[in-house]
Amino acid sequence: MTVISTIKEKCRRCYTCVRKCPAKAIKVEDGQAKVVAERCIACGSCIKVCRQEAKAIRDSTATVKDLFWNSPEIIACLAPSFPAAFPQAKPGQVITAVRNLGFTEVMEVAFGADLVAKVHARWAKQNGDKLSISSPCPALILYIKKYFPSLVEHLTPIVSPMVAMARVIKRKARPGGKVVFIGPCIAKKEEIEDPEVAGDVDAVLTFVELDRMFQEAGLIPEKLPESPIDGPLARLGRIFPVPGGLLRSASMKEDVCQNRILVTEGKEACTQILNEILEGSVEAKFMDLLFCEGCINGPGFPNDLSFFSRKELVAKYVQSRLKVEVEDRHKADLGKYSRLSLKRSFRPDDRRLTTPSPDIIREILRRTNKVHPEDELNCGACGYASCQEKASAVYWGLAENEMCLPYLIDQLEENLSRLAQSHKDLGEAQQQLIQSEKMASVGQLAAGVAHEINNPLGTILLYSHMILEKLEQKDSRREELDTIAKEATRCRDIVRGLLDFARQRKLQVENVDVNQILEEGISLVAAQPAFGKVEIAKTLDPSLPTTEGDPVQLKEVFLNILSNAGEAMPQGGKVTVVSRFREAGSHPIEIMIRDTGQGIPQENLNKIFMPFFTTKKIGQGTGLGLAIAYGIVKMHHGSIDVQSKVGEGTTFWVKLPADSSSKGQETIG
Ligand code: SF4
Ligand code: SF4
Ligand code: SF4
Repeated sequence: MTVISTIKEKCRRCYTCVRKCPAKAIKVEDGQAKVVAERCIACGSCIKVCRQEAKAIRDSTATVKDLFWNSPEIIACLAPSFPAAFPQAKPGQVITAVRNLGFTEVMEVAFGADLVAKVHARWAKQNGDKLSISSPCPALILYIKKYFPSLVEHLTPIVSPMVAMARVIKRKARPGGKVVFIGPCIAKKEEIEDPEVAGDVDAVLTFVELDRMFQEAGLIPEKLPESPIDGPLARLGRIFPVPGGLLRSASMKEDVCQNRILVTEGKEACTQILNEILEGSVEAKFMDLLFCEGCINGPGFPNDLSFFSRKELVAKYVQSRLKVEVEDRHKADLGKYSRLSLKRSFRPDDRRLTTPSPDIIREILRRTNKVHPEDELNCGACGYASCQEKASAVYWGLAENEMCLPYLIDQLEENLSRLAQSHKDLGEAQQQLIQSEKMASVGQLAAGVAHEINNPLGTILLYSHMILEKLEQKDSRREELDTIAKEATRCRDIVRGLLDFARQRKLQVENVDVNQILEEGISLVAAQPAFGKVEIAKTLDPSLPTTEGDPVQLKEVFLNILSNAGEAMPQGGKVTVVSRFREAGSHPIEIMIRDTGQGIPQENLNKIFMPFFTTKKIGQGTGLGLAIAYGIVKMHHGSIDVQSKVGEGTTFWVKLPADSSSKGQETIG
C-alpha cells in the first residue's frame, strides 16, 4: 500500500505534483495523477505543492487506537521538532496532551539522536578517508537506494534516531512496550517497514494526525497543565531536525578550509551533490544530507509557520532544557545504553529507467503534432521540463499524450470548429426538414384540390368543344363559348401543374442523358426574347452518367429554371450552366444553373418552390414553374436547392441519382 495516494475527486490535473516529484513517481493515467508505490520515496513534496489537497497520507490513527486497546504499555516518541508543531502550547502542555490520549509514557526521540550522533562521530573518525553519507533521513535513503544504487555502499550503516530510540525502549527500558513515533516525516511510515528495522517501531503518526487525534479526543494542549518528559534525558540530539544538527550533536565541525565535511539539505541540492559524487567531482568525505531542508520543514506539520519560526521554537526549547537539566544524568543515561546495537545495512532497490532511443522519442512527439524542432514548445505545462522529457515519460508509461496543453488546445479548436460546422449543418437540415414538411402538406392540399377540379373541368371542356362543333361558324355565341373553352384549358394546365408539384403525374421512365436535355433546353430558351441580351455559357461534363427518368419532365425542370434566369436579367447578363459528375454520394449527377440577375430577397427564398408564389405582376405568371420543377425533381429522387444574393444573382443546383446500370453509382429508389 502506498504511503501517499491521490484523492481522485479532488485532483484537478494541474500536474504540479508531476513537476515537483524528484523520483518520477507520479503516473498520469486517465487524467489522474497516481503515485507509483515502487518509485515513491515518500518525500512529501507532492503533498506540499498540491493546492487542491488531493494528496492523502496513509492514516495510522486507527493502528494507534488499536494499540491503546490491545497493549498495556504504549510509549510515544516525540520527534525533536515537536515544539514547532504546536506553537500555541508550551512543550510541557503538548507532552500532557499526548499522555492524555492514552500513551503510558512520552519520550523524546532526541535521546536516540544523541546516541546516533556519537556512533556517527566514531564512524567518521574510523573511516575518515572513505566517503560516508549520513543516514537519518529515510527519504534520502530511499532516493539513494532507488535512483543512485551504486552509492548505497557509502551510506553510514547506522540506524536513524527513531529506530535507536525504539531499540532503547524495546530492548532495554520497556521490553514488551509498543512504540509510536510522532513527527513531521511521512517517510518514517516507509522506514518502519524496511526489513532491516521492521518490528522496532509499531506505528508512525505525523503531527497532523496527532493534531486530529487531539481534536477527536477534545484535547486542547494550551489549556492543559505541563508535565515532564519520560525516559532517558536527551541533550543536543534535540537540534537534529535543524540543518547541520547531526554535526552539532556529534561535535563534528564542518571546516570550510578542509572541505572534508559537507552539509546540505533540500531535494535539488541533494540531487546535485549525489550526481557530483557519481561524477567523482566531490572531495568531501562525510556528507550530512537531509531531503527536506531539515526535518523542521517536513510535510507532516499542522501549521504554516516559516522555516525560521520553527527553527526558533526548536532552539528556544533546546536552550530552556539545557538550562535546567543536569548533564551528568544525560551522561549516565548514555552510558546505560552505550552497548545497544545501532547497526543496520542497506540494499539497493534499483528503479532507474532506461532512456528511449531518438526514433522512439520522435514517434511519440509526432503523436502530439511535434514534427519539427520548433513544434517543441518546452512550456512545461505537462509537468515535464521539456517536450522530449515528457515523451520519455510517455514511453515509460508515466505520462499520457493528452497532457500536452498546446496540443489539447489545438484539438479543442479543431473540435470546436467541427462542432460549429455540424451545428450549422444540423440547422440547415432542420430548415430543410421544415421546408419539405411544409411542401408535403401544401402538395397534399394541391393534389386534393386538383383531383376535385379535374373532373368537372374535363366535363366543361368536353361539352364546350361539343357545342362549339355544333354551332354555325357565324353564330354570335361562338366567341363566348370559345372564351369558356380557352379559360377552361388554362385551368386544366394549372391543375396539371399542381399535380406535377404534388408528384401525382406518371413518369415515362427511360435512361436519360442529362447533358442532352440541357443542350435542348438551352437552345429552346436562347430563342426566347428574354434571352436577347443574355450570354449563355455551358460546361457539360462528358463523363456524366445517365439517370432513370422522364426526359420530357426533366426538360421542363431546366426550362423553368432557365426561363426564370432570363427573366431575372431584363438588362442582360450571363447564365452559366455546368454539369458535373461527383463520384461520392447518392446524387452523382449535379447541374448548376447560375444567373447574374437581380437575385431573390432572403425572405422569399423559402417560398420560391411554393405553388402560386410569384413576384411577377398579375397575369405575367402562374407562380407554378418552380413548384413544378420541385415536384418533378423529387419524383426523380433528386434534390433542388437555391442560393441567391440580391444584386448579384441566383444559383440553382439540381442533383440526381445515376441510373442503375451506371458502374459504381447508386440507383434510383
Ligand atoms: S498537484 Fe497533482 S494531485 Fe494535486 S491537483 Fe495537481 S495533478 Fe492533482
Ligand atoms: S512523496 Fe515524493 S517521491 Fe512520492 S510521489 Fe510525492 S513527490 Fe514523488
Ligand atoms: S509543449 Fe506539450 S509536451 Fe512540450 S512541454 Fe509544453 S505541455 Fe509538455
